Amino acid sequence: MIFQAPKGTFDWMPPRSESVLAIRDALAAPVRRAGYSYIETPIFEDTRLFQRGVGESTDIVTKEMYTFQSKGGQSLTLRPEGTASVMRAVLEHGLYGGPLPIKLWYSGSYFRYERPQAGRYRHFSQVGAEALGAQDPAIDAELIVLALDGYASLGLRRVRLLLNSLGCRECRPGYRAALQEFLRGLDLDEATRHRVEINPLRVLDDKREEVRAQLTDAPLVIDHLCGACKAFHEEVRGLLSAAGVSYIDEPKLVRGLDYYTRTTFEFVHDGLGAQSSVGGGGRYDGLSEMIGGPPLPGVGWALGVDRTVLAMEAEGLLSERPTRVDVFAVPLGDEARRRIFPLVTGLRRAGLAVDMAFGGRSVKGAMKAADRSGARYAVILGERDLEAGAAQIKDMTTGEQTAVPLAEVVDVLKGRLS
Ligand code: ATP
Ligand code: MG
Repeated sequence: MIFQAPKGTFDWMPPRSESVLAIRDALAAPVRRAGYSYIETPIFEDTRLFQRGVGESTDIVTKEMYTFQSKGGQSLTLRPEGTASVMRAVLEHGLYGGPLPIKLWYSGSYFRYERPQAGRYRHFSQVGAEALGAQDPAIDAELIVLALDGYASLGLRRVRLLLNSLGCRECRPGYRAALQEFLRGLDLDEATRHRVEINPLRVLDDKREEVRAQLTDAPLVIDHLCGACKAFHEEVRGLLSAAGVSYIDEPKLVRGLDYYTRTTFEFVHDGLGAQSSVGGGGRYDGLSEMIGGPPLPGVGWALGVDRTVLAMEAEGLLSERPTRVDVFAVPLGDEARRRIFPLVTGLRRAGLAVDMAFGGRSVKGAMKAADRSGARYAVILGERDLEAGAAQIKDMTTGEQTAVPLAEVVDVLKGRLS
């Protein structure tokens, strides 16, 4: 029997896996340059952290969590998102007692039991960033700009920013009531009517056409913002414009998680079909208290690495270049292999990218492997070379071949490749 990856999961295989690595690095680079430090938290957490920190009424908590019992009888859950874990770690380590804001970034695997489709998987990868402890519109704007800079550095030109504000403790309840009143008058199925009662904002995010059609005249949160939220939102928009960032006001934009307040945003790409969101985030000023911490405002985002790969593919930006080496070593015979092995090691220690032919191949087979490796130079060691204490260095582009004393091979190649 040959096993297959579980439904909704897949393997990133070479050469495409190289792009995944490059995308992760590129998305993280702007935040790293902006003073965000790396944080790594466990892949599983106490189930209650997500129940409280993501929210009992969200799809994630009600339907999508990978929850299991540990042998000790504790309920654990594979993380479906990163923010709750980061907040938990910050609270546990008391970082909020130090300088604020606390700026952190992370990258890793997330798990949601979703219906698998293109761009929607059960195991996926995100790069995330969070800034905790400052209620400053400049930090919302900073994070948005840094995410867009990450996308731009990959060459992506079709990422659009959708922007909204969800209000705060003061103004959200009034909006929630007005929205509920409106939604109760619609023709909705049982499950959605239930959602109207527990999490009405999420109904605005319903993807079904028959629901969307009825939402045209829904009251908008933007018309219900209190003075402080309105001013905050205007400030964020002004800072974005000043940074040359264009955005689309999307008054029905809500997020899948319960803890968002004020600034809410999503990065969408038109080349991905239904799963158009490549990243998203927002402000979550109430989260810390929801999981037992002191008041600690925060804002952050998570960018989907897998969907960014798809976006790059849609824009023709994926280069499927295999890993290349500088030098490929070809030993002809057992004695040559014994002698070339320390040479290969020496070249690698000198900082060159080096591979060699394994498995006692024929000259023809080994030279083919050298060709495929993309190396600029091959180092060939045959029996006659051994006797002469030399190796042949072959320039793979010109075909030109020169004999070099074994002791000088490292220096000669270093020189030629610098
Ligand atoms: P969607 O509306 O597409 O379900 P979401 O609001 O659930 O997205 P977030 O929780 O904000 O997404 O996660 C941030 C990003 O992570 C998304 O924009 C997306 O790029 C990626 N992402 C989320 N869920 C998945 C998934 N199941 N498979 C692949 N990528 C995902
Ligand atoms: Mg989702």
